[in-house]
Amino acid sequence: MLSAKFFQKKETAMIIDSHTHIGHKIIVASPDDLVSSMNAAGIETSLVFAGHINACSTQLLLEEIAPHRDKLMPVGVISPIWPSEDTLPKLEAMLLQKTLVAVKFYLGYEHFFPTDHVVRPYLELLAQHGVPAIFHTGDCYGKVGGAKLKYAHPLHLDELAVDMPKLTIVMAHMGNPWLTDGAEVCYKNPNVYADCSGFVCDDFTPSSRESFIASVRQFMKYTEQPEKLLFGTDWPITNQRPYADAVTEALGGEGGATELVMGGNAARVFKLA
Ligand SMILES: [Zn+2]
Repeated sequence: MLSAKFFQKKETAMIIDSHTHIGHKIIVASPDDLVSSMNAAGIETSLVFAGHINACSTQLLLEEIAPHRDKLMPVGVISPIWPSEDTLPKLEAMLLQKTLVAVKFYLGYEHFFPTDHVVRPYLELLAQHGVPAIFHTGDCYGKVGGAKLKYAHPLHLDELAVDMPKLTIVMAHMGNPWLTDGAEVCYKNPNVYADCSGFVCDDFTPSSRESFIASVRQFMKYTEQPEKLLFGTDWPITNQRPYADAVTEALGGEGGATELVMGGNAARVFKLA
């Protein structure tokens, strides 16, 4: 359950990072590391993802972030290749207890489409409980071997969005590099949102920063709805402070849009406030 302290903060404009990881493999990072980074970046709240590819099951994530539940919001993982770990009764119990703010699906890394029958019962449960499904889309991190891009194309989310209008869908990474396809899926479907995480590993170069800012502006222009984009970084793959600065610059000081993208949209979509 969300803490009382969290709700007290809702009147102030807060920054919410909608996409971070902890883990023990490939991504090696702890909740303490994340909270230090957030403090340095002025980020109040982060969604933290479980992931079997990072040796972090949903259960382990919940245990590890327990000391920081005022700042870190758990996002579980469902994977069709870990059927004994990720069962329907386990997910249903967590949803009934409101333990998770969302569930992540790793598509390209674990070789399934969002429309595959193996994940449909999980998605139906999420829709029933009003908990969003986050899908990895676009480029796959090079350090994870064997990823297949065809599963990660953002266009597949269109079919799911139409077939399951009550499911809230978040397209991680805006579908990068299929940015126009990703923006169109968000523009067309009322139940689809995108996060802008993961456009760079480590720090921006001047050139990668410029092209990231252009991508965010293109998404905002195409979708014509500031409610659609969620600030996210993909920490620890990249650094929160420079990422937040770049997104703020991309939004060009438009007060309403900045407030929504940097935190308001996440608070609404993930029911944090
Ligand atoms: Zn990620």
